[in-house]
Amino acid sequence: MSSSPEESHLTPPSSEQISLTHKEKSDFPKYKIITSDGSISKIKWDEKMDDEDFIIKKIGSDIFYRDLCNREKSLIYLCKNKLDMKNFKYIYPKKSHNETFNILFNYLDKTAKDSIKAKKQLAFVAFRKKDGSFDKSRIKVHYLSKGEHTEDKIFELLLEIYYESNSDYSEIYIYSTNSPCLTRCNHVPCMIVAFVIANMLNEKHGINTIIGYHKAFGSHEKALSSYPIKDDDPKYDDNNDSEVKELLILIYKQIIQKQKYKNQTFSMEDTGHRPKRKLKQFYSKISNSETIKHLNDIEQDLFKKHPKLSYTFDGFHEHGLEMFNNFTTKISKLLIDDYENIYEEICSYLEEVFFLWWAKKVEDASSKFLKKRLASIILNYSLHLFLMEIREIENKLGRNFFEISYVVIK
Ligand SMILES: [Zn+2]
Repeated sequence: MSSSPEESHLTPPSSEQISLTHKEKSDFPKYKIITSDGSISKIKWDEKMDDEDFIIKKIGSDIFYRDLCNREKSLIYLCKNKLDMKNFKYIYPKKSHNETFNILFNYLDKTAKDSIKAKKQLAFVAFRKKDGSFDKSRIKVHYLSKGEHTEDKIFELLLEIYYESNSDYSEIYIYSTNSPCLTRCNHVPCMIVAFVIANMLNEKHGINTIIGYHKAFGSHEKALSSYPIKDDDPKYDDNNDSEVKELLILIYKQIIQKQKYKNQTFSMEDTGHRPKRKLKQFYSKISNSETIKHLNDIEQDLFKKHPKLSYTFDGFHEHGLEMFNNFTTKISKLLIDDYENIYEEICSYLEEVFFLWWAKKVEDASSKFLKKRLASIILNYSLHLFLMEIREIENKLGRNFFEISYVVIK
């Protein structure tokens, strides 16, 4: 299931719908960026600020950020304070940037091209010169390596360029399959570093930075597990954390309504879980051992492992019906002549077992799908908030030099 913006447009709940009035206490750690000795680092910032509600903030020449590393907390924070998404827009592909990134893909070698097509993580940087051409000698691709983010080496190179006395470049393009991170425990997150360096490069050399990505990086899926939902009619059984749950239900319902959830396909993984079957209780009524063997095979077949299935919600229920109809056809052929008396009994017994099992599987798959959707919306939302704050900073500076673009791979 892709989480591309085209299919995920939402009209968020209005602020009136959200009954949450108080602001969540923002207790995420604050940091001040330190740029010295050719590197970007941070120091913890415990001083009080006028407005403590931000991801990135520039005061004078100082840049601060808050690390929303704690997923559980940031889920609640984003939902409670921020998910009044009146102005929420997904980051759409910008036509010109999208074309440029696709041109750049063509300059890469086969390994890199294949990775991009397979949507595997890699990051590359390319430089456009003032005459409009690309400096092909300096296109560098970075793959995942242990302990590093793919952008780390790119930032080292950018800092080298910053310290050069002059530059022939007008634009820097950075592509990262999964967007540069917005949270990174113990490190300055890549998106923050990217902005800090972009600001330096623009101030000194007049260079603009454009970041392209295929998917937002990070996930709140695990944090959402604390708020499990059931099937396509989200509700919670208990009243704990009811504020958060109330809000989550509102958003879940939006996903279902606005995104024509009923028409969307999702996949079901085979968990290997099988219901307890007790057809043995009928065996004493069957004298023919061959028939028992066949009966056993047919039953096994009904609950057999299935390869990854993908259907709509209704499609899954139809598929279940189809499976059961096939079963009854087979079983009637087997039993109808000699054992008609127990045929009905076996069918109605297994009907209950099978449909309970199948409904639970569909329910699990559908709630997993919804959870994924919501996690993706929250993540894209935090990226959107970050970009809004960047715009604010840029407006104050009177310079526009930093862009983020979702990229459609052609
Ligand atoms: Zn990163």
